[in-house]
Amino acid sequence: MLIAIIILSIISIPLFLAMLYIGVKVKTVFSTYDKQGASCGLTGSDVARKILDANGLTDVKIAGCKGMLTDHYNPLKRTVYLSQSTINSASIAAISVAAHEVGHAIQHANGYLPIKIRSAIAPIVSITSKLVFPLIIIGIILEQLAMALPEFNFSYEFYVAALACYGFYCLFAFVTLPCEYNASSRAKDQLIELSLITQDEERIVSRVLGKAAQTYLLSFLYATVRFLRILLILLSNRNRRSRR
Ligand SMILES: [Zn+2]
Repeated sequence: MLIAIIILSIISIPLFLAMLYIGVKVKTVFSTYDKQGASCGLTGSDVARKILDANGLTDVKIAGCKGMLTDHYNPLKRTVYLSQSTINSASIAAISVAAHEVGHAIQHANGYLPIKIRSAIAPIVSITSKLVFPLIIIGIILEQLAMALPEFNFSYEFYVAALACYGFYCLFAFVTLPCEYNASSRAKDQLIELSLITQDEERIVSRVLGKAAQTYLLSFLYATVRFLRILLILLSNRNRRSRR
């Protein structure tokens, strides 16, 4: 078990560094292609409206949101939120991101299963994610108490609860993967079908959206490696205590 823990610890380092690298790379790729105007001459907002209407989603709204690359689709409000860097920009990067967000709106309208699961577990994950750290702190305090006071009966329940909460986050990160890859694939198909991009621009759209998808893949892999590592540490600690 110790070897597995060491291997997982070693794997987590390049994964963490790759996550940081891709995070920077996404912004670099976006700003590179944000300087290149799309041949269709439309803004992110125009493209989103065109794709939504072409798919019969005339009732889905488009609104602005603060920040850079904070674009998202809200299924409850049936609104595509486009950031300041996307909504009024007529760059190839902006229309790629706008088309991707509309991809989520189409998934929602078509009842795409992974987005249904993702929407269902999102409220749970928003609560459980906040509980991980406090539960670990309580676990540590109780463990220290048990060391100081031999009569105090320490149990791993709080650590297990923290791990279970983190497990929900891993599940959420896993379900996010098909949602993101599928939304990008739909975005590209729609841009081609509606003749909004040229063949040369197709490659740029794939590059912009592909880099963004890699962030989700790395987040999932990093979270899973951490989950397994903590699980093995807990199991080995419990085995050690039960042998005493
Ligand atoms: Zn997305």
